[in-house]
Amino acid sequence: MQGMRIRTPNDIQNLPGYVSKIDPKLIPLSHIVIHYDIRPFDIQCGLCGRAHMDGRIIALADVSKSITNIGHICGKKYFGDMYVDALRRYNDAITRPQLLQKVSEGIRKVDSLQLQLQSIRLHGVSLLRQSVQFHALSPEIFDLLKRRAINNQADIYESVERTKEEIEDLLAANPFQSRDQLLTKEVYRGTVAGHKFLSIDWSVERGIQRLFCEVSELLDFNFHPGQLATHKLVKWANWLDDLDEQIKSVKSAVLEGERFFSQTNLQLFALLPALPAAREKIRNFHLSELDDSYSVRSTPYKTLPAQKVRPLGRIRAERPKSQLTLKQLRRLLGNKKVR
Ligand SMILES: [Zn+2]
Repeated sequence: MQGMRIRTPNDIQNLPGYVSKIDPKLIPLSHIVIHYDIRPFDIQCGLCGRAHMDGRIIALADVSKSITNIGHICGKKYFGDMYVDALRRYNDAITRPQLLQKVSEGIRKVDSLQLQLQSIRLHGVSLLRQSVQFHALSPEIFDLLKRRAINNQADIYESVERTKEEIEDLLAANPFQSRDQLLTKEVYRGTVAGHKFLSIDWSVERGIQRLFCEVSELLDFNFHPGQLATHKLVKWANWLDDLDEQIKSVKSAVLEGERFFSQTNLQLFALLPALPAAREKIRNFHLSELDDSYSVRSTPYKTLPAQKVRPLGRIRAERPKSQLTLKQLRRLLGNKKVR
C-alpha cells in the first residue's frame, strides 16, 4: 500500500477490509500498513474508540485480513510487544531507507566541506595555542580579561587623575561633594575586539571542537552508512539538520579569536587595573612574538578508502604544539559557552 494518500477519515474508511472496531484479544496484529496524520480531521480509534488525528493503519492476522486504524499509544497499550515488533519492522522497511538516503547525502556534503573544516579547526587550535602563550605572559591580565569576557564587558576605562582646576570647578558647581571622591575619573579608552574569545568553550566534549570529532565519526561511515542501526541514523539525521548552525558557531568563535589578538587590543589590555609590571609587559609586547602558525598539515580527516580510516581521537593526533594538554587548555579557558 505504499504511495497511498491518507488525508481524510474517508480515505481510511474506504480501504478494502476496513473495520472500525477490533478486539485485540481475539485477533492478533499482522503488521503496520502506514502512518497517517489527517489533521485537522480525526477518526475513531479501532482499539479505544476515542478520536485520534494521528496514528497507524494496521492489518490483522485474521483470514479476511481486516484493516483498522489505531493510535500509537493504544497500539502499545493493547498489543504490547507485538506492536513494538511490528513498529520496528515498519521503521526498518519504510523509515530506514529515507534516513539512509538523508545520511548518505549528509556524508557527501560533509565530505565536500572537509578542507574548509580542517582549515577552521587548525586555525582554532592555533588561537588556543596563542591563548596559552598569552596566559604565560601575564596570568593576571589573562584572568582579568577572562572574567570580563564571562561578564560581557568589552569597554575599557582608565582611571585618570583630575587636574586641580577640574576639581575646583566641580566643587564650585556642587560644594557638597567630597574632594577625595573627585580625585580621579574613569575615561573610556576603547572597546576590546573579540572580547568574548576567552569565555568560549573549546572543549571536545561540549564545546567548539566537538563538531570536528563528530564530523570525523560520521565520515567513518563514508562508504557504509548502511551499517548504522536505525536509531543511529535518526541521531545523524538530526545532527545534519543542525550542521550549518554548528559550523557558523565554530566560524564565529575563530573570528572572535582573530579579532582578539590585535596590537590595538594589547594597548587596551595595558590599561587594565593590574600590577604596573604586568601592564608594562603587555604594553611592550608585540604580537609577532606569539606563535600563530597554522596550516593544513595533514590530509583531511578521512581519505579513501574507508578501511584506512583512523578511529576516533584524531584531535589528539594533532594536538597543539604547546606543552599544555587539551585538558589544561580547557581548564584555562573554562567551559562557558558563547554561541
Ligand atoms: Zn486509541
